[in-house]
Amino acid sequence: MAANVHTPPRAFGGGGAQTRDALLAAPVSSPRPGLLGARLTTLEGVGPAAARNFAKLGIETVGDLLEHLPFDHRDYEGTRTIAELAIGEEATVAVRVRSCRVRPTRRRRLTILEAQVADETGPMQAVWFNQAYLADQLKEDVAVLLRGRLEAGRGSATFRVAEHEIQRGGAAAEEGIGRHTTGLVPVYPATEGLTARRIRELAWGLRELPRHSVEPLPARLRARAGLPVRADALTTAHWPEAVEDVALARRRLALEELLLFQLALVMRRRTRREVRQAEAVEPLGDLVRGWLAALPFELTEGQRQAVEEIDGDLASGGPMQRLLMGEVGSGKTVVALYAMLRVAESGMQAALMAPTETLAEQHFATIQGLIGDGLFAGQDATRLGPPVGLLTGSTPARERADVTERLRTGELRLLVGTHALIQDAVEFDRLALAVVDEQHRFGVRQRAALDGKARGELRPHLLHLTATPIPRTLSLTLYGDLDTTALRELPRGRRPVKTWVVPEHKRDGAYEFIRERLREGRQCFVVCPLVEESEALQARAATAEGKRLAAGEFKDFTVAVMHGQMHAREKRAAMARFAAGEVDVLVATSVIEVGIDVSNASVMVIEEADRYGISQLHQLRGRVGRGAHESYCLLFSDARSELARRRLEAVAEERDGFRLAEVDLTLRGEGDVFGTRQHGLPEFRVARLPEDVELLELARSTAIALLGADPGLDDPEHAVLKWVLDRRFGTLDAEPIAA
Ligand code: ADP
Ligand code: MG
Repeated sequence: MAANVHTPPRAFGGGGAQTRDALLAAPVSSPRPGLLGARLTTLEGVGPAAARNFAKLGIETVGDLLEHLPFDHRDYEGTRTIAELAIGEEATVAVRVRSCRVRPTRRRRLTILEAQVADETGPMQAVWFNQAYLADQLKEDVAVLLRGRLEAGRGSATFRVAEHEIQRGGAAAEEGIGRHTTGLVPVYPATEGLTARRIRELAWGLRELPRHSVEPLPARLRARAGLPVRADALTTAHWPEAVEDVALARRRLALEELLLFQLALVMRRRTRREVRQAEAVEPLGDLVRGWLAALPFELTEGQRQAVEEIDGDLASGGPMQRLLMGEVGSGKTVVALYAMLRVAESGMQAALMAPTETLAEQHFATIQGLIGDGLFAGQDATRLGPPVGLLTGSTPARERADVTERLRTGELRLLVGTHALIQDAVEFDRLALAVVDEQHRFGVRQRAALDGKARGELRPHLLHLTATPIPRTLSLTLYGDLDTTALRELPRGRRPVKTWVVPEHKRDGAYEFIRERLREGRQCFVVCPLVEESEALQARAATAEGKRLAAGEFKDFTVAVMHGQMHAREKRAAMARFAAGEVDVLVATSVIEVGIDVSNASVMVIEEADRYGISQLHQLRGRVGRGAHESYCLLFSDARSELARRRLEAVAEERDGFRLAEVDLTLRGEGDVFGTRQHGLPEFRVARLPEDVELLELARSTAIALLGADPGLDDPEHAVLKWVLDRRFGTLDAEPIAA
């Protein structure tokens, strides 16, 4: 296959090279990788405005542009003569303009540009719609390539132009004339203010540059896997000789990208594990053993296993790097608290960091409940000091001062908070464990700040929690540097939530059903439509819906509203009233997505459910079904698209979060509008996830094998690889690099 991959013609200089930049004409064997680092504005015709548009696509340098690959190639085979054209057939013709005029039409928004053109076989009329400005360029005798279709008209046939290219001078082939209208024409992802045509033109101008790019893949690996060299792959991905070659070129570039990422993950994991030290936590003592025994429930099998693994991590000497995956209600907080108590019992400190105040408060409440009265029966729990502190953005100044003071002295051993707890002013005496909830919602910097809170050169033990179930293959990318534990079963007594998709015409019946549940003493959540653009809009919608329901369908019940624009205090008050049963219906925005635990709530309504992603719906629904009562989730939606319907039906039918995540990915693969961002997956330039999962696994196993044989990448064959890795990921230490 590699033999089909061609370098650009005449890379060796030769005739005509003297007209080109001397650098570009240098022999292939003298690459100048620096050329690829040049800013885009160094290219002719690219000003600051265009550069800003390119930046939107993540393209800053010439090399970035070269890695901005076409997603498709249109096959415009060679040119025809006018005489050869058949009605209805799409083709390219090379013609000269004889005359040209803009024809007025009666429709205000429509202009037609008409040109009389001809080649050696005869004349023809060509038309453009709404491109009157071209009249200036299509002067008499201008040579032009036209791509389009001959259409039968009244009288004579007309050639309707889809793409055109004006040929200047005589150097057509050399200057790449025809690149928009003949041969294999690359189609690039474009963006506002930046057309695919413009990108095509600029990229074409770089066609001599791939040979200056550095080849990081060791020759042996390429030979074994039958992969082309980087330069050839780049050239082929843009300007293939044959369409069949593109897939291999793309695959090779994607594999490189994923391999570098996996190498970085594996190396970081190893550095952290082997080089970094963490506080030594004492073996399980009476205090925590007593607490476990006094819990009002048995741990699930998954929880027991997680606890065991955590024990192993804490005893290992290196810092724990564990991910605890389990859907909402699977009992992650209990496991996290176990780890925190182990640390506290050893006289050290543990902090739990949550992405929102609501979540932090919820964790705080759960933890207070779990270390409440009687749970340390017969133990001297005062050994733990004051039980647990809370630190968020809305902690009053006096309380904050008190908490930070007790943290500094080490008197306070357990802390729950938002990123407020990693601010500079917050000092720990001996932070040994950090629990991070939904880590993908924190930036790298924030996680690094947390790392820096441990004493001296030590690193805290890290326990990540996530309620987003991720299929294993993908967790390799996201969390490839972590050990993972999954809580797959829900605690006993948890009931599956009956879920229905409710179309508009069944709405009244649904409200009647809910009123019956309310009359039985149950409570209900109403979740308003997701408005991604603005929290304010979403808040307004929730307020309006609350009013509507309070005056209408639920006028005999108490309705309250909760949304993200309310003060933390107001939110807390609304939650407290709902939890106390004073409120029957809580109308909320997706802020309740996380952290609410009211076992008497047995119905959840989700408005315009199709606006939510599958995993979000599943998480929302986890808010009900927490008590002894049969629970229901009503997905209101009138969505008609096939894909939207399948997604909602999947949520209705499938209760296992991990299986739903797989369904989600399959449906995404079919072109879902929901981006990978919702999954928190890192974005790659060439590789596409989840489609390239198989390549990802290959990259993973290759990385492990490579580092197994050459842990420091010291083999001369790996020198370039190491250099590229270092430039891309910096020093391979400390911080998980996911997302
Ligand atoms: P998560 O953090 O995964 O959403 P939590 O740890 O907050 O779940 O647990 C949810 C609820 O279930 C809490 O009220 C907790 O006390 C309870 N719970 C946790 N583990 C068990 C168990 N093994 N058996 C019964 N209830 C449990
Ligand atoms: Mg929880």
